[in-house]
Amino acid sequence: MGLNGGYSGFRILREGLSGNRGWRPAWRDPAPQPAYDFVIVGGGGHGLATAYYLASQFSEASVAVLEKGWIGGGNVGRNTTIIRSNYLLDGNQPFYEFSLKLWEGLEQDFNYNAMVSQRGVYNVYHSDAQRDAYRRRGNAMILHGADAELLDAAQLRAECPFLNFDNARLPVMGALVQRRGGTVRHDAVAWGYARGADRRGVDIIQNCEVTGFRIQNGRCTGVETSRGFIAARKVGCAVAGSSSRVMQAAGMRLPIESHVLQAFVSEGLKPIIPGVITYGGGHFYISQSDKGGLVFGGDIDMYNSYAQRGNLPVVEDVCEGGMTLMPMIGRARMVRMWGGIMDMSMDGSPIIDRTHIDGLYFNGGWCYGGFKATPASGWCFAHLLATDTPHETATAYRMDRFERGYMIDEKGSGAQPNQH
Ligand SMILES: Cc1cc2nc3c(=O)[nH]c(=O)nc-3n(C[C@H](O)[C@H](O)[C@H](O)COP(=O)(O)OP(=O)(O)OC[C@H]3O[C@@H](n4cnc5c(N)ncnc54)[C@H](O)[C@@H]3O)c2cc1C
Repeated sequence: MGLNGGYSGFRILREGLSGNRGWRPAWRDPAPQPAYDFVIVGGGGHGLATAYYLASQFSEASVAVLEKGWIGGGNVGRNTTIIRSNYLLDGNQPFYEFSLKLWEGLEQDFNYNAMVSQRGVYNVYHSDAQRDAYRRRGNAMILHGADAELLDAAQLRAECPFLNFDNARLPVMGALVQRRGGTVRHDAVAWGYARGADRRGVDIIQNCEVTGFRIQNGRCTGVETSRGFIAARKVGCAVAGSSSRVMQAAGMRLPIESHVLQAFVSEGLKPIIPGVITYGGGHFYISQSDKGGLVFGGDIDMYNSYAQRGNLPVVEDVCEGGMTLMPMIGRARMVRMWGGIMDMSMDGSPIIDRTHIDGLYFNGGWCYGGFKATPASGWCFAHLLATDTPHETATAYRMDRFERGYMIDEKGSGAQPNQH
């Protein structure tokens, strides 16, 4: 049972009757050891999931996660919590469906309430051509074993009567729905993986910034950090928005640009929105948190940046999208907004691969869709680190696809990272 003990209804009852004195911190605060078998750089969702699956599925080896700030301070705690596997292309769909299946069993697996809520994801369409494109996507999803349903306007109206069906410039004609999609409480994912990894012996070391890589004869032998050198047999980097900067320290130039993406939350309202709804006529999406706040967002800020805050024109654009899709949103007061740094790749799809440096591995390019990928990304990166071969659902996520021209371009928008 380890340091923290298991969480259960019985445990809550016992602690409640004994003054709650038995709870311990959910993970330890260990000092870094001089050497590990595996060092994971970045304590976001992907780094923590990688360490968790390395320890639980693949290896008895020693593992450390090095995080420059605190667990949950990056995008894993900044996103709008949507999970789904509604992808079209062969390179993506099996991976995201694998991830959705892992989400479905995650809370039992790591014994933590992450509030996985399969409340459905609705992609609204506004033209015959868009309906046909969604039908094609839905069919591709079903062929890969995922679920998809195409609703017409009457069916959508029955589930989401508040949408602007009659007066919008772009009429609401229906939606592609994935009922198994939904939301997950994002920071609980970080905490659940951190606790689960810690219980399996992983050292989670916060306030430990990786500043460089020690590379000898083409092999990475460890990392330079703000807390000294740490040797490693293998180093895996999962630093999301900081990917270009961190890998630059290993002399690599990545096919990735960093952009800001903002998120917004309204005051708490009574339950009104059944699932996640995305607007097909612009960039706007919305769901409602269990506390009642409307959680919404839109496009990235469209200029390269490492800042974790955004600009006002995008705020205006997002609010316009909301007003077009569901005018009632104009009555709600916005209470919070923030930004996160997105690692936008050239084709909009991620990279999980070895690098040209032995012992150094890379995981990144998640764009604004990496939260839903967290379980599969962790699993596949752990698989790669442990076995040196890609997991069967991640064979397309190779670094050299940009040289070979094998793009996984879901949107078909070409080498324009801000357009994906
Ligand atoms: C506003 C917003 C909304 C989003 N909405 C969604 C959504 O609804 N659904 C979805 O699927 N995705 C969404 N995303 C994207 C998703 O959040 C990211 O793709 C994903 O979280 C990135 O992986 P991560 O969790 O590992 O990143 P992070 O949590 O950012 O982890 C990276 C970590 O690396 C650390 N780090 C950086 N440099 C160093 C260093 N030198 N040394 C040590 N540590 C370092 C950072 O401090 C950070 O903690 C959204 C993102 C944002 C910002």
